[in-house]
Amino acid sequence: MSENALDGADVAAWMQRAARVVAEHESALTALDRAIGDGDHGANMQRGFTAVASKLESESDPGLPADVLKVVATTLISTVGGASGPLYGTAFLKGSIAIAGQESLDGLGLAAFLRAAAEGVQARGKAERGDKTMVDAWLPAAEAAELTASDGGTALEALTAAADAAHKGAAETEPLVAKKGRASYLGERAIGHRDPGAESTALLLSAGVQR
Ligand code: ADP
Ligand code: MG
Repeated sequence: MSENALDGADVAAWMQRAARVVAEHESALTALDRAIGDGDHGANMQRGFTAVASKLESESDPGLPADVLKVVATTLISTVGGASGPLYGTAFLKGSIAIAGQESLDGLGLAAFLRAAAEGVQARGKAERGDKTMVDAWLPAAEAAELTASDGGTALEALTAAADAAHKGAAETEPLVAKKGRASYLGERAIGHRDPGAESTALLLSAGVQR
């Protein structure tokens, strides 16, 4: 990985690590979704990211960061299903469009990707912050990346801040009542459980950060 910016190969490596992280956490994501949904989120994500990994592996040249993210988007849309498939697909597609043509992502580029992804999820799912959805991870992630990048932070520093904010946002879904998605059918019974999509968002972002 280059020091200050992520090129197409770096983004592809991030997505390959995301596939491994999702696989490692499949049962944890399933358990979260079993508590307040239908118990398929781990399987949905694993199916999607296994397909992403093999698609990216089959390409000799990853191309630009936007090209990689577009492959991720189209693969997730066609393989994940459920509510999260179109939402993640839209996130990666809008994020890809926001950074079209960039050879590599610096801090600001990374922040632009995350902001467009967060807005894409919101436009598609109509959830606000605090509705106990993946928006509660994407939005703080975008904000944290923007803050870090505007202070001169590198892509990796912006992504680290984003991943930390997403984990915090996911944890903060626990006391909430859900306003969107399957968990909204549970009313107050959703209280005390973390939103699975917010958790998977945090995992995907932290996969880009080597610790
Ligand atoms: P399904 O709910 O169809 O079984 P998944 O289990 O794969 O799909 O994904 C559930 C996750 O999708 C939730 O935890 C939540 O984060 C996210 N989600 C559901 N509806 C919305 C929405 N309208 N806006 C944003 N995120 C949503
Ligand atoms: Mg589900």
